[in-house]
Amino acid sequence: MRAAILRDYGEPLAVRELPDPEPASDGAVVRVDACGVCRSDWHAWSGHGEWADDRVPRGQVLGHEPAGEVVAVGDEVDRFRPGDRVVVPFSLGDGTCPHCRRGAGNVCEDGRALGFEAAAPGAFAERVAVPAADYNLVERPEWLGATAAAALGCRYMTAYHALAERTTVGGGDAVVVHGCGGVGLSAIQIAAALGARVIAVDVDDDALSLASDLGADETVNPTAADADATAEEGGTAGAVPERVRDLTDGGADVSLDALGIAETCRNSVRSLRPRGTHVQVGLTTDAERGEVSLPTDWMTRWEISFLGSRGMPPTSYPDLFALIEATGIDPGGLVARELSLSEVSDRLAAMDEYDVRGVEVVTEL
Ligand SMILES: [Zn+2]
Ligand SMILES: [Zn+2]
Repeated sequence: MRAAILRDYGEPLAVRELPDPEPASDGAVVRVDACGVCRSDWHAWSGHGEWADDRVPRGQVLGHEPAGEVVAVGDEVDRFRPGDRVVVPFSLGDGTCPHCRRGAGNVCEDGRALGFEAAAPGAFAERVAVPAADYNLVERPEWLGATAAAALGCRYMTAYHALAERTTVGGGDAVVVHGCGGVGLSAIQIAAALGARVIAVDVDDDALSLASDLGADETVNPTAADADATAEEGGTAGAVPERVRDLTDGGADVSLDALGIAETCRNSVRSLRPRGTHVQVGLTTDAERGEVSLPTDWMTRWEISFLGSRGMPPTSYPDLFALIEATGIDPGGLVARELSLSEVSDRLAAMDEYDVRGVEVVTEL
């Protein structure tokens, strides 16, 4: 099969022939019909994570947002057969530990991150092996095509888990999303579907215009002239939190850092009302190396909650599908571009310059 391999950090991926994977006795092999390209791939490709001993190894097949069809299963697999249409979550649980049994497979201590470690080769490939298939594979409803499902397999479900499961956004809540890349735009669409009033923050006007199309009620560009003026008047808290306070009559109920740089993380925390909830979704870059300093005295004074959120347990998919069906939102609406496998390197490089809008999906494997 053809697969795109990380030869070295920051270098173009090598598209090569590899042997077809065989299913483990509890696993399955899925023919990849579509696989999204994500900022997490960019982090891996850039060699980030060294500070946490979490660097993706050279030789890794990247790609963690696949949707496709089962082509083979191991003899212990009960729930799936060749021909089943599926989506594969990137955070793979072992299915047996206390976390998995409690419905939190995304924090399985023995879990694997698809496309990020040698034991879990990724899905920028014609086929991908999935361990513990009965637990991890998700049946794809008739109405969900492979391309939309790939758009949903990482960022969309991450946004859903952050907003609906880590915290519970409801009707009338003011939600701010800092960073309008794939996960940020997904969060905007989902927050709007949950009945929230949504404010989108980004330095890029094109990203903000996409955010408005997907349901943002207000947009804030921190580089705009009026924001600078507010910063001068607003003192140390900064332009973005001041602007959000103005728009929300005192601060947001929930604020999400969908990017993961120090500025967006602090702005997000500072955007909250007393007892508001910050959810951290974005991972940091070389500049932060996994740590961001925060206004802890202020957070204590106003009883701010700070939550981490990663992916979504595979067991939560039925709830996400139910929300999509009930509200008619379209994850496919986030797909801005379809790619071939050989184009992935260029699109990863484009992320260096934040030059990617919406979600891009490899559909030609
Ligand atoms: Zn992803
Ligand atoms: Zn587990």
